[in-house]
Amino acid sequence: MRLDDISILALLAMIALINAGAILWVSRLAPQYPGPRQWSLALLCIAATAGLSISPLPPDSPWRGMLFNPALFAAQLFWLAGTLRFCGRPKRDVWLLAGFVAFVLLNTYLSLVEPNRELRIAISISASAAMKFWLVWVLYRYGRQHRNHAAWAVAISLVCEAMAYLFHAQLALTGQVPFFGGSTQFSTNIVWVAMVLGVTVTTPLYLLLALGRLVGDLDQAANRDMLTGLRNRRGFFASIEPLLAHARRNKGIAAVLMLDVDRFKRLNDRFGHAVGDAVLKVMGKTLQETLRGSDVAVRWGGEEFCAVLVNTDGAGAHSTAERVRRRFAEGCTGIEALRGGRVSVSIGIAYGALATHDFEVLQRKADEALYAAKQAGRDQVVAARLEDPPSPSPSPAAG
Ligand code: GH3
Ligand code: MG
Ligand code: MG
Repeated sequence: MRLDDISILALLAMIALINAGAILWVSRLAPQYPGPRQWSLALLCIAATAGLSISPLPPDSPWRGMLFNPALFAAQLFWLAGTLRFCGRPKRDVWLLAGFVAFVLLNTYLSLVEPNRELRIAISISASAAMKFWLVWVLYRYGRQHRNHAAWAVAISLVCEAMAYLFHAQLALTGQVPFFGGSTQFSTNIVWVAMVLGVTVTTPLYLLLALGRLVGDLDQAANRDMLTGLRNRRGFFASIEPLLAHARRNKGIAAVLMLDVDRFKRLNDRFGHAVGDAVLKVMGKTLQETLRGSDVAVRWGGEEFCAVLVNTDGAGAHSTAERVRRRFAEGCTGIEALRGGRVSVSIGIAYGALATHDFEVLQRKADEALYAAKQAGRDQVVAARLEDPPSPSPSPAAG
């Protein structure tokens, strides 16, 4: 099989068109995400560059570079504009448009006024490579922030494309880029190969990036509580089941914490529901920041929360609960509308071997311990060993 220009370009145009359709479908599926629509426009531009190149224009016609380069540049701009939008860092379109106009003027000058094919190709391809490196940076930061590995996969693929583009720009500067159809050598066709890589590898990864975000958001909507960001009961039980099964197999222990904000009804009545909600958010943040990554917390309902700490004994659970109690009260001091009013939480703990006690038993005992904490004056932690009746802990109530 021969690697010739026409077969590569026909393949490129066809895959670009199919991918443009696929990405358009994603943009309809998740219209809340800005970006995919620009990606499909980029792919249409790629299809246009390939189509233009197969056109009946003579191989050495200056009109080839005159039309091809702006179409390629526009494709990179659309990738950039879409990705910046998708990653939440949109730039003003007017700047991107100004960049495009400047490029078209320079390209026209080097095509028709002062023809210089080598320089024209080198500038055009280097500009595309530069935009790809910009995308790599944006995607790297997005991937890090959102823990989306597809973003890194796209970035790696873009680095490969950009390197091939730079290689081609260097070939152009040394006058080694053949006219269309003039070479079957792999090295001189590398820019086309890079573009095929773009539509066959990078683009499906872009699709994964968007679909990954959609799946993450759907998971969030189904399993998380919108107000606090903690799991809801559905997400909680789905998360703890494998954790508890693992701990049970390894004869591990677990601690269950039941938490209830003190005098919350009074707080709502006095300061309003918006302030009540702000307090609940503080509890969500406190639990997320205080518990270990392996622990699972849930908004049990209203102003009640529950947390499961696997492989944690009584002393560990107690000190964690104390930290939550203290940090929650401190966090609430940041709510200005409370005007210095103090908010506290009572916490009940139960812990034991999972081989002998179900989660439901531990949870019920923790709830009883919570009730004991309320009875003992609130703003404190009470631990219940399964064998023993719950008794108030010696922890002092912070004043
Ligand atoms: P205790 O110290 O005994 O726990 O008293 P409490 O007032 O906290 O307990 P109670 O269960 O009587 O009140 C809970 C209140 O929580 C009643 C309800 O209006 C309020 N609440 C439940 N869900 C939400 C919510 O999502 N936002 C707000 N702002 N309030 C809520
Ligand atoms: Mg309460
Ligand atoms: Mg309650």
